[in-house]
Amino acid sequence: TIGMLALDAKGNLSGACTTSGMAYKLHGRVGDSPIIGAGLYVDNEIGGATSTGVGEEVIRNVGSFLVVELMRQGYPPEEACKEAVMRIIRKKPETAKKIQVGFLALNKKGEYGAYAIQQGFSYAVCTEQKNDLLVPGKSHY
Ligand code: ASP
Repeated sequence: TIGMLALDAKGNLSGACTTSGMAYKLHGRVGDSPIIGAGLYVDNEIGGATSTGVGEEVIRNVGSFLVVELMRQGYPPEEACKEAVMRIIRKKPETAKKIQVGFLALNKKGEYGAYAIQQGFSYAVCTEQKNDLLVPGKSHY
C-alpha cells in the first residue's frame, strides 16, 4: 500500500491510499485500503492516518479511524500509531509475530509519526524545509 497524508498551507488535511492487495488473495477479497476508517481516515479537525500490511487485521480494528480517535484524545501521532499496532498484537499475539501492519499519522499541527509491527517500514516526509526518509518506532516483537 502507498498511503499519503497532506497538510496544506491553509491548514487543511487530506489523504489518499492505493494498493495492489495481498499476494495470492482470494478472488473478490477487499482489503483495508478502499474502506474508509480502515486503510485511510482523515478528520480535518484532528488529523489523518493510513495503514499498510495485512488488511484483515486493520479492518477488524478499524485501524486508521482508531489512530485518529486516539489523536483526538491527545495522543501524539507516533503514540497513536503504536497503540493501534499494540491493540492488534494484544488481540492475536501469535499471529501478529508473523505479519506486518503499520500505521502513519499526521495531525492538524503538522506533527507526524508512524509505527509498525515489523522492521522494513519506512516513510517519506516532505516540507518546505526538508525531504526525509524515516524509520518509525518499532514494536516489541
Ligand atoms: N493493506 C493491503 C491489503 O490488505 C496490502 C498492502 O499493504 O499493500 O490489501
